[in-house]
Amino acid sequence: MKLDDYKDFKSGFVAIVGAPNVGKSTLLNHMLGQKISITSKKPQTTRNRILGVLDRPGVQFVFLDTPGVHHASKPLNVRIVEVALSALADVDVILLMADVTSPQPEAEALMVKKLKSQKTKVILALNKIDKVENATLLAEIKRWSQLHDFNAIVPISALRGLQVDDLVDAMEAILPQGPPMYPPGSLTDMPERFIAGEMIREKAFRLTGEEIPYSVAVTIDEFKEEKEGALIRISATIHVERDSQKGMVIGKGGRKLKEIGQAARKEIQRMVGAKVFLKLFVRVQKNWSKDTRALRRFGY
Ligand code: GDP
Ligand code: MG
Repeated sequence: MKLDDYKDFKSGFVAIVGAPNVGKSTLLNHMLGQKISITSKKPQTTRNRILGVLDRPGVQFVFLDTPGVHHASKPLNVRIVEVALSALADVDVILLMADVTSPQPEAEALMVKKLKSQKTKVILALNKIDKVENATLLAEIKRWSQLHDFNAIVPISALRGLQVDDLVDAMEAILPQGPPMYPPGSLTDMPERFIAGEMIREKAFRLTGEEIPYSVAVTIDEFKEEKEGALIRISATIHVERDSQKGMVIGKGGRKLKEIGQAARKEIQRMVGAKVFLKLFVRVQKNWSKDTRALRRFGY
């Protein structure tokens, strides 16, 4: 697969934000069907979690949770909220969800104030329209549109699946161009460390001008959470087949490898919503693609 095949492709991270019970899980279930499966067994930290991946023709959405936002009212968690909201600056789209049956002016004003402090595009989904009269909905749309200049306001019923397609269209319209972050059609429960490896592999391929095979393998040797999840320490090895390829990946004075590392680190940071320290190594593994034992070790 040539990356050129993806030149019209769109992909990006979408953070789902909203108070408890507005219908975030219901919406995800509706959009992703049975595939929603990424759940963390760990206690909530400040990090983003991948909730699921939605593939559409030419588009891939990676939905992220924003832990901490849910506890905005508890003073103890103010720092967590701040960290969570600062992570929002790195996503491509914020999907803010609200429940039209229970407006919460104070909490909403606080949330909107935070949203205004960053440049990220925001789409507002007004959920549970099946439970209100048209007049109520219109009043809610008017009230919200005066609070903030949203990229779009889409009334939906996540439970009934009403206008959920319109919501996805609205998100697609503002998603940036870029190749998919997961192999399209892949399961949504791949661990973050696997995806991190894929991101490094994609950068190595792209930044070497496609002179190394796309099948270059990346192993994640260390993936460690520190500072309650605020920092992730990653060590990874890029496995190539020939010394000449190793030279290309490392570049003059190590410049190419540094470039690959910086690009991959940025993307991994966006995924995990935490600071990332990334250490990269390059190793020559002759004929690894023909060696089935090596293949198995790389998880292919
Ligand atoms: P979350 O806390 O934001 O993830 O909210 P949930 O998805 O768990 O939904 C909270 C409650 O609202 C559940 O009982 C859902 O069935 C209900 N709910 C979600 N979306 C809708 C909707 O569009 N219409 C109605 N009537 N109820 C909904
Ligand atoms: Mg939920």
